[in-house]
Amino acid sequence: MAQIRSLLKDACIEIAERKRTCHRNRKGHSIAKGEPCLVIIEELGNKKNYCTTCAAQILAKVEADLGALRCELRPPDVDGA
Ligand SMILES: [Zn+2]
Repeated sequence: MAQIRSLLKDACIEIAERKRTCHRNRKGHSIAKGEPCLVIIEELGNKKNYCTTCAAQILAKVEADLGALRCELRPPDVDGA
């Protein structure tokens, strides 16, 4: 059977080996060495790092978007109930 396609293949969590800058708030947020961060790999292979605060917000949005997709996918109720 074919593999189930993953929508999250371009996202992963890395532990910063040295200080990184959070892409969402370059001036205010930084990721210290040893801290986990969300890494999103873009089309050209560019990586964007997000601190744990911003990552939590991004993941919450992914969850909300998934919920919306699931709702849209649900077959219409036959009874209309
Ligand atoms: Zn951030």
